[in-house]
Amino acid sequence: MKKPIATPSRTKEILETHQMSAKKNYGQNFLIESGIVEKIARSAIVSDNCVVFEIGPGIGALTQYLCEYAKKVVSFEIDERLPAVLQDTLQEYDNFELVMQDFLDVDLNAWVKKYKDLGMDVVVAANLPYYITTPILFKIFESGADISAITVMMQKEVADRFYAKVNTKEYNALSIVTQYRCEVSQVMKVPKNVFMPKPNVDSAVLQFRFKPKREDINEDVFFSLVKACFKQRRKTIRNNYQDFVQDKQKAQYQLELAHIAPERRAESVTIDEFIQLYEVYYNDK
Ligand code: SAM
Repeated sequence: MKKPIATPSRTKEILETHQMSAKKNYGQNFLIESGIVEKIARSAIVSDNCVVFEIGPGIGALTQYLCEYAKKVVSFEIDERLPAVLQDTLQEYDNFELVMQDFLDVDLNAWVKKYKDLGMDVVVAANLPYYITTPILFKIFESGADISAITVMMQKEVADRFYAKVNTKEYNALSIVTQYRCEVSQVMKVPKNVFMPKPNVDSAVLQFRFKPKREDINEDVFFSLVKACFKQRRKTIRNNYQDFVQDKQKAQYQLELAHIAPERRAESVTIDEFIQLYEVYYNDK
């Protein structure tokens, strides 16, 4: 690598040379600490035969390290000013491909299939644009695509919800839906002073790895049940659940059958207990 992009002076120099500034509406906060970028890249690449799909390369800070360590990097970017910049900053890499498209419109399954057919492992890496963190992750989760790992930076408070354990104030339907589908681990916490411009809040890098899909569970029904149980956090699970089954006695009976005391609150109910409740609900229909 000639020069890391993720330093304050190099980032300033690139922005000045290309007469551009960060666009807030695209969630642009560029990384300026190369040690952190290197760690994200190293954790993202899980094998020697990897293609990385990157969301939002910006001026190339993370992309550069991904290109160093992965066989191939495909980056999806929305900001039309950036192809010219990346052509300059990443000129030393011939394993880099830029796709100018809103990631939410990308045909992810087709892209994954292309590289799986070549026998490669597919991973996702990004310093995510914060304004669409959850839609991007749910697009990936719901695609069902064969992706080995998703390693992404997001606002710390959003990460806390994805990662939350039972009996904490962050634990909610999003935590359960995510942890039902994926093993979630925290790679590191990241302070706000390693970005230019500096955001108002700290960040964290999480890694998601898909669990094997359970064919015996109808996910749409399971997720609606979980969401219904968290509808009013302060209410007991019985009060929330009875709206879902539309029958007070049935709610009480099914919760007891699932060994969940009806006066508990949803935030104390583990994923396995929610699965038990789903099974009782499904068999009682
Ligand atoms: N990877 C760079 C870094 O770490 O310095 C930039 C990260 S910046 C937080 C987010 C990037 O995502 C920006 O380059 C932004 O233009 C891009 N972006 C925003 N919305 C996008 C979308 N819908 N699809 C693809 N890229 C998007």
